[in-house]
Amino acid sequence: MTTTHCPYCALQCAMHLESGPGGVLAARPAAFPTNRGGLCRKGWTSAETLTVADRLTTPLLRKDRGAELRPVDWDTALDHVADRLRAVQAAHGRDAVAVFGSGGLTNEKSYQLGKFARVALGTSQIDYNGRFCMSSAAAAGNRAFGLDRGMPFPVTDLDDAEVIVLAGANPAETMPPLMGHLSAARLVVVDPRRSGTAREALRRDGMHLAPRPGTDLALALGLLHAARLEGLLDDDYIAERTTGFAAAWRHAAAWWPERTEHVTGVPAAHIRDAARLIGTAENAYILTGRGVEQHAKGTDTASAWINLALSLGLPGRVGSGYGCITGQGNGQGGREHGQKADQLPGYRRIDDAAARAHVASVWGVDPDDLPGPGRSAFELLDALGTDTGPRAMLLFGSNPVVSAPDATRVRERMAALDLLVVADFVLSESAAMADVVLPVTQWAEESGTMTNLEGRVLRRRRATAPPEGVRTDLEVLHHLAVRLGQPAERFPTDPDLVLAELGAASVGGAADYSGVTPERLEAGEALHWPVPSGGGPTPRLFLDAFAHPDGRARFAAVDHRAAAEDTDAEYPLLATTGRLMGHYQSGAQTRRVAELADAEPEAYVEVHPDTAARCGLAEGEWATVASRRGSTVARVRLRPDTRRDTVFLPFHYPAEQAANNLTNPALDPTSRMPEFKVSAVRLHPCAGR
Ligand code: SF4
Repeated sequence: MTTTHCPYCALQCAMHLESGPGGVLAARPAAFPTNRGGLCRKGWTSAETLTVADRLTTPLLRKDRGAELRPVDWDTALDHVADRLRAVQAAHGRDAVAVFGSGGLTNEKSYQLGKFARVALGTSQIDYNGRFCMSSAAAAGNRAFGLDRGMPFPVTDLDDAEVIVLAGANPAETMPPLMGHLSAARLVVVDPRRSGTAREALRRDGMHLAPRPGTDLALALGLLHAARLEGLLDDDYIAERTTGFAAAWRHAAAWWPERTEHVTGVPAAHIRDAARLIGTAENAYILTGRGVEQHAKGTDTASAWINLALSLGLPGRVGSGYGCITGQGNGQGGREHGQKADQLPGYRRIDDAAARAHVASVWGVDPDDLPGPGRSAFELLDALGTDTGPRAMLLFGSNPVVSAPDATRVRERMAALDLLVVADFVLSESAAMADVVLPVTQWAEESGTMTNLEGRVLRRRRATAPPEGVRTDLEVLHHLAVRLGQPAERFPTDPDLVLAELGAASVGGAADYSGVTPERLEAGEALHWPVPSGGGPTPRLFLDAFAHPDGRARFAAVDHRAAAEDTDAEYPLLATTGRLMGHYQSGAQTRRVAELADAEPEAYVEVHPDTAARCGLAEGEWATVASRRGSTVARVRLRPDTRRDTVFLPFHYPAEQAANNLTNPALDPTSRMPEFKVSAVRLHPCAGR
């Protein structure tokens, strides 16, 4: 039996992997503070990914466009990749090669991928799918607190909360064991749809506020306004621990409850009631999720919710606070170690001269040789194969033709590349487009560390040997780096060696991992970063001071603005997207697990019965959903408790059922987050189904 952590979301539930009949592994829940012996359906069935029928065990190579992918040996595949990368860079320059990573990669892989891009390839063109997940909350957290750690407190702190606001988060369906920590609290759920979490809130005497998609920022301003009308602001805290309230209030002052109702659709009485509920609680938390963050104004929206928390005196106190519920398994660690376009390991800025000098010294290179910041994830994908964009891309742990916005356009751009190399354990929809596919290990076949939603570094343990013919991502990077002329020792394949180097590179950075060692992890220490060598960990941040030089948190002067696109006669409805209990991200893993695929086999669209009737649709029929970018098909589910102007689609399905065929890649100016949550659409019966 091996004790490890779930391969999916950022709660990183602990599990035992036990050998069952025929030696096949099965997952069982293990005791751990985040899941306390619970697992969701995905966790229970996670070991099935280790025996999927279409597992890749040999590299695949497509010699010419239009040819089939054919099995080749590793040397042939890696030689081909290295030769083609050299040729592309010789013809078009260093930045003609891009690297695209993932918030699902271990810390060691994330670190090594960033180093590989900047040292072995010398390209600035690296980013990762976490840009589509956490970037708005990260930017807002840095702006407010001077530091971004999703939850700056342990999850168990939520156990004693009296009131918890869940703004754009649906843990009852996406992260069920987290609900065990919310059971004592009255919940205020902010979501355009009546999600499982919203139903749970109402069942327990809480509230569900259902704003029109794209108006969450206005709702946060309205709640701040209402709280001040009720005399609920913590004036002493604002004076002693923050700056910028007056400028922030100048915007909130214009959002009295009736005006907020007009824009958001949330009744003014409910706004007052919610402000009273939150503002009079002895202790309360405000938690945000993708629903308020995945917008072209996602950073400002997250800031507006942080402003509300600051005005009530919540952050930086035991028993209350603000946090962001990270989505991907290593969404937190994945953005700290250098696979983000603008960052170096230790959560340092790549344009910081001192940071560049330090990291270059650890890597044994000249800081002047390190590239600067590159394109953000969607901008990078959108530039592929263009005259000024990358001509080749290496893709690790991601499936952007399903999970990126405006998926049709992303597919076209990827098809325009001279070379696409994908490392994966199955032929995902993106891998099927590749010129070279490299079969790699998956979670329980390798070891490494992950950093969960509370900034706690965890040990992921190897429980079984990988199939013959499969290599780890670290081995792939090692062998490619050597072929590109790098010293072999610069790219070790032992994850513990990479962790030690990552620790050295992170010394003095915001996310200092220098004290994270295999021994401390094996001893079961709760290593919430920063963990400086010989010090830490730091379960609760900001109790004495925030991370800005003056020790104060900063209000952001933010105001509501319209979504990037609105409805009109042609596209009269708003579509919003999200996740299901049974699937994870693009579904490349979970759609291969029989129990999960059987439970949620196809895409659906939630529609109010009146809206469906207007569109000529009935329960169970197939609908075509079209936006200004493309269309998808989905089976109609009638939901009388949803907004009449809004439809919801899960985004885990590929090709003609891909919800991201609809979504808008309009980007947040700060975080470069696309607007996944608001697309103007129309519905009509799907001919031929
Ligand atoms: Fe836990 Fe998330 Fe895995 Fe479910 S998917 S078992 S909530 S880590």
